[in-house]
Amino acid sequence: MKRYSAFAVAREALRGNAGWQRAWGAPEPRPAYDVVIIGAGGHGLATAYYLGKRFGITNVAILEKGWLGGGNTGRNTTIIRSNYLQDASAAIYEKARSLYETLSQDLNYNIMFSPRGVMMLAQTHHEVRGYQRTAFANNLQGVETEFIGPQRVKELCPIIELKGPRYPVMGALWQPRGGTARHDAVAWGYARACSDMGMHIIQQCEVTGVRSEGGKVTGVETTKGPIGCSKLGVVVAGHSGVVAEMAGFRLPIESVPLQALVSEPIKPCMDVVVMANTVHGYMSQSDKGEMVIGGGTDGYNAYTQRGSFHHLEETVRALIETFPMISRLKMLRHWGGIVDVTGDRSPILSKTPVEGVFINCGWGTGGFKAIPGSGWGFAELMAKGHSPLTAEFGLDRFTEGRFIDESVAAGVAH
Ligand SMILES: Cc1cc2nc3c(=O)[nH]c(=O)nc-3n(C[C@H](O)[C@H](O)[C@H](O)COP(=O)(O)OP(=O)(O)OC[C@H]3O[C@@H](n4cnc5c(N)ncnc54)[C@H](O)[C@@H]3O)c2cc1C
Repeated sequence: MKRYSAFAVAREALRGNAGWQRAWGAPEPRPAYDVVIIGAGGHGLATAYYLGKRFGITNVAILEKGWLGGGNTGRNTTIIRSNYLQDASAAIYEKARSLYETLSQDLNYNIMFSPRGVMMLAQTHHEVRGYQRTAFANNLQGVETEFIGPQRVKELCPIIELKGPRYPVMGALWQPRGGTARHDAVAWGYARACSDMGMHIIQQCEVTGVRSEGGKVTGVETTKGPIGCSKLGVVVAGHSGVVAEMAGFRLPIESVPLQALVSEPIKPCMDVVVMANTVHGYMSQSDKGEMVIGGGTDGYNAYTQRGSFHHLEETVRALIETFPMISRLKMLRHWGGIVDVTGDRSPILSKTPVEGVFINCGWGTGGFKAIPGSGWGFAELMAKGHSPLTAEFGLDRFTEGRFIDESVAAGVAH
């Protein structure tokens, strides 16, 4: 595949842009592959990419029922941070964050990583203590964060109201190298690199069944016919329970809607990401000038990819308390995704009761930030049977009571 470069842009400008190659192919499925991955979201594509790049496994098909990146990967608010409390979480999220730093160069695709800094506001004494504890833990884990006072919050984000009507801003957990990236570009960049390695990305191909013999996977049934494989990666986010049922096991997962919305574009007014978990909303400004806004999940299970109106209302109300200047903004559009939430708010990257079937799910409201680290570790798990990055995230933790409790870091926010 021809590399993207400033020279290529200039050359194609002179040729009427007639020389660009297709970024990825549209192949028909082969009868069998070494590895099949269900789900062409960020995690599935990153897994395939690192299987090829790190382990030389390229006889891989990634099956997608819709279009690649059309699930949560293309629906999220793109916050990237690694300020989690537990060591296992900090390790995988920080691996992901550090890979994001150079992902554009690695993939030769501009994913627009913007390490503009992420702050999580502390608005109760409990939150102050919680975030101070996380900052201490992060220092031990090698994750760069600090607890900052209200004046520094105001310096970093002048549009914040420190004395909100319900909760004052008492400080914040600040991660200066957290930020955002362009979500579609992450999916597209990985997809292009996978296609370049000869992998098949097969869109409009829904998996409808999992075939096994003697407790070992042999392939999948799809809307484009049966496809054989000796290893199967299930990476389908909100539909994990559905696909697990096809394979014959159950997951400790709930699938719930999560929504986001954007305002009309305005001039640059904030250059950091702010999360206000007590009033429950978060906001950043996109390159186009829109305010990108998110809140919490709906309190019921659903597969509708849209959320309730009252959640939108609560989120906007929370953010108007925090940023009064947005009260006159018009909201342009909103959308929803189905997120897969575990009881301890940590992901599952695991072998399963069916030999050869691996599951990567449970990223809930916060898996975009984890895509490169998840792909890195899950590819290792699938290739070698174990990975230091994923070791703690097995399904067995739910039967052994060995939870990785991230409900403060991940339960509400992103
Ligand atoms: C509104 C919203 C805001 C969010 N904000 C953030 C944020 O700011 N920061 C953050 O880190 N995370 C955020 N997240 C979470 C993040 O988007 C997800 O954790 C992440 O994108 C999951 O990626 P994935 O590749 O696992 O899933 P997906 O991108 O959903 O990919 C799974 C794919 O599997 C396909 N699939 C499902 N079933 C089948 C089948 N039977 N056959 C074939 N294909 C199938 C789906 O079509 C889908 O494309 C947010 C999520 C939402 C919904």
